[in-house]
Amino acid sequence: MLEQFTDRNTNGYIYYKYDPVPKTNWQKFCRIVKRSVKLELFVGLWIVFREMAKGKKNCHTTQYPLEKMPMPPRYRSVHRLLRLLESGSERCIGCGLCEKICISNCIRMDTGVDENGRKVVKDYSINFGRCIYCGLCAEVCPELAIVHTSEYEYAAEQRSYYGLKEDMLTPIDKFKEGHQEEFEGYGSVSADADKFIKKTPIAGDD
Ligand code: SF4
Ligand code: SF4
Repeated sequence: MLEQFTDRNTNGYIYYKYDPVPKTNWQKFCRIVKRSVKLELFVGLWIVFREMAKGKKNCHTTQYPLEKMPMPPRYRSVHRLLRLLESGSERCIGCGLCEKICISNCIRMDTGVDENGRKVVKDYSINFGRCIYCGLCAEVCPELAIVHTSEYEYAAEQRSYYGLKEDMLTPIDKFKEGHQEEFEGYGSVSADADKFIKKTPIAGDD
């Protein structure tokens, strides 16, 4: 099997024949003229001028930051905490699953009880400097409360860069203005999710 690779003389190899290296100044001059005045040079120049003449309409470069590339829906960037679309209540129930599963140990949360005796999330933060954007927190969240957005501009001046609850949660006044739509990015329910729901087995149920 290896023979066909080791025999370099009969296996269709093409050996490139180099031009002889010019020695005298006259030979060097002749080579420069030969390389410069070939028609290919003018063909190349013609293509460049033709594309330039088409102007901005022919521009294929994204004019960042004026233009931004749309990110695919599975892109995992900085997190957002969602509200229920019907009521505007916070979706997060403070179960702590995201905090437990986080392999970078960068989620911190604090829960308490409100005046009605309901559990509330008082504080929630993610250290984006530690986060590796693995997506486990969004995967494990039973309430679809934490998701990954496609906002890729999150450079920070410091290594520790905390996203606080008030940064990640849609403000209630903006929510009322319709700033939160059904989320379709990473962490949302897939379009065919219903197919995978299994009935809870109940004793005596046929
Ligand atoms: S994306 Fe991964 S590393 Fe970042 S907060 Fe979620 S679980 Fe932690
Ligand atoms: S897993 Fe979801 S509901 Fe539970 S604490 Fe985290 S964000 Fe809130």
